[in-house]
Amino acid sequence: MTKNKSYTGIDFFRIIAAILVVTIHTSPLASYTRTGDFILTRVIARVAVPFFFMTSGFFLISRYSRGPGKLAAFLKKTALIYLAAMILYIPLNLYSGYFRADDLLPAILKDLVFDGTFYHLWYLPAAMLGAAIAWFLVRRLGFRGAFVLSLCLYLAGLAGDSYYGLTEKVPFLRAVYDSLFSLSDYTRNGVFYAPVFFVLGGLMAQREKRLPRGLGVCGLCVSLALMCAEALTLRRLGLQRHDSMYVLLPLCMFFLFDIILGFEGKRLKGLDTAALLIYLLHPAMIVAVRLLARLLNMWALLVDNSLVHFIAVCLASAAAAAVLSALWARLRPRRAKVLPGTDRAYLEIDLGNLRHNVEVLNAAMPPECRLMAVVKASAYGHGMYEVAVRLSELGVRAFVTATIDEGIELRRYGIPGEILILGHTATERARELRKYDLTQTLIDREYGDLLDKQGQNVKVHLKIDTGMHRLGYAWDDPDSVFAAFGAKHLRVTGIYTHLGSSESLEEADRQYSEEQICRFYGLLKELEARGAAIPKVHIQSSYGLLNYPDLRCDYARIGISLYGVPSSPHDRTRLELDLRPVLSMKTSVVLLRTVKAGQCVGYDRAFVAERDSVIAVLPVGYADGYPRSLSCGKGHVLINGRPAPVVGRVCMDQMAVDVTHIPDVRAGTAVTLIGRDGAEEISAAQVADAAGTITNELLSRMGKRLGLITRD
Ligand SMILES: *Cc1c(COP(=O)(O)O)cnc(C)c1O
Repeated sequence: MTKNKSYTGIDFFRIIAAILVVTIHTSPLASYTRTGDFILTRVIARVAVPFFFMTSGFFLISRYSRGPGKLAAFLKKTALIYLAAMILYIPLNLYSGYFRADDLLPAILKDLVFDGTFYHLWYLPAAMLGAAIAWFLVRRLGFRGAFVLSLCLYLAGLAGDSYYGLTEKVPFLRAVYDSLFSLSDYTRNGVFYAPVFFVLGGLMAQREKRLPRGLGVCGLCVSLALMCAEALTLRRLGLQRHDSMYVLLPLCMFFLFDIILGFEGKRLKGLDTAALLIYLLHPAMIVAVRLLARLLNMWALLVDNSLVHFIAVCLASAAAAAVLSALWARLRPRRAKVLPGTDRAYLEIDLGNLRHNVEVLNAAMPPECRLMAVVKASAYGHGMYEVAVRLSELGVRAFVTATIDEGIELRRYGIPGEILILGHTATERARELRKYDLTQTLIDREYGDLLDKQGQNVKVHLKIDTGMHRLGYAWDDPDSVFAAFGAKHLRVTGIYTHLGSSESLEEADRQYSEEQICRFYGLLKELEARGAAIPKVHIQSSYGLLNYPDLRCDYARIGISLYGVPSSPHDRTRLELDLRPVLSMKTSVVLLRTVKAGQCVGYDRAFVAERDSVIAVLPVGYADGYPRSLSCGKGHVLINGRPAPVVGRVCMDQMAVDVTHIPDVRAGTAVTLIGRDGAEEISAAQVADAAGTITNELLSRMGKRLGLITRD
């Protein structure tokens, strides 16, 4: 998950990397210079495979993950490719006498898991093992821990690869590595070699910034030069058992990948498949070129001349890849993809507008104030995962939920930073509060004492009731509030209150809010006088910020404004911000029916046609969040840019609208229930108002059954 869409460089480098692998297996410079060939094929070309691992890691390993589904899909796809490649190479295995070996079964098992059944195929099991290990480490330890651990694995692998000459001088180590080598021919495998590059790829995806171009290029040149020096020294000293792994390789890869990510432009489709096919097919093409050379009697040119041989193998591999991918494109079954839960109706979440709102709100808050994003009730129906992950990527580091389970859900997605739970949590769950590093609201003294007694070190914010009379310590009971600071196991990191009528600019309401604010600051002063260290302070919700923008707080708890809508279309605020709605609700017509004047539609015969009418049936109802109170013309939808009134009662799963006056409506025509269609717009606030409620309720009831489609 990354905002950076500059994958053009990755696409092109895949081809370069595939050719570098061909280089390794054909030694193009061997006829001319042995040292040059060593540098090209045993040092420089060694960036190819780590690049492929990093690319997979870049797309696969993310801090923000919903579950292991992505990993499973990667493993399945790689396993299928592996299977196909193994079958493809069986004739060559037969020819080379592979199956005539003694101890065939253990040898095959070992090859299946580590070494590959043909020399270049080790890459595929290594990719699977490496991905799984990296995934597991990142989940468990976070990126830093995973990187350190996988780097340790790499170093251990190094000692069995190009540094083995040193290792084998220590008898104990020699014994350890020798038993290792009975399991896997090399340490260049999925356990020691691949994980660090997968983790590094994920890290690069997570990183916000690239290096300045000059620094990246310099870094790559210097680290490559040093790696050459390292390799040549090792070779001179005769220490290399194998030559895939160098101390400087991960550093080279960091600089190289950083440069690659700097290329922006249009993506070219199919380069990834082409690169994969070149990789898989080139050993077969080496055999093919040799056969051809024998047939044409051109051995001296096509095989003995290493450069011509390399070029011939490249051309043959590219041609074979082109033919196969054309065939595949022709044969592949094409099924239109519909995301589960979005075929009937769906919520469209505009993450670009979310980002815009965050920027506008940040600019409106005082500089020392931080946005605390309220994401309770599935981010007001906008999708907890989609919204929270995007906010986190945008740098939001404080979140608010209503319940502990919502808080845990955020942590499972990988959301870092502060997560404040507004509501009551059963004190028996104190251990989970600590385990997931959640911040619990103390709702009164009794609750605080009870939570403290659980003996778990929990972070808490104190809620102060300054007049809303819902949750909180009474503002005029400083003794109780002060006592919370002395709790043995609770660490007070914040204190807040909530304004009960901040949305109103009526004089009496304003006065009441001012009074609440006054009481809150009065209490803070009293606490300070008693020697309490005042923690982070917050008061404003969305309307608190819009109507009391001058308050100097550490946080503002922003919910509805983040989603770009007012609670009601009639609200006026002191601060008028350019906020944009994030959610649209859409569906499409499933069928049209004509009803004659006098015929009814739907439950209770609530609608009887006054004229011959065309009615469109929509597959969405109140169980999807569209209010039943909009029945019988109270609500309307947009079709082909024109309003169509609801006829009859909104049912649980369907509803009907009158489209008699709208041309070109068919089964499948798009319908907007909330959002914009052409020049017309139906705002969530309008819908909520027509249904006799506020946007907050309308939105928070959505998304239980409807799927989400996100846009940037
Ligand atoms: C829900 C909630 C908010 C967010 O309110 P919005 O009006 O949606 O910004 C803030 N504080 C508390 C205590 C809440 O319950």
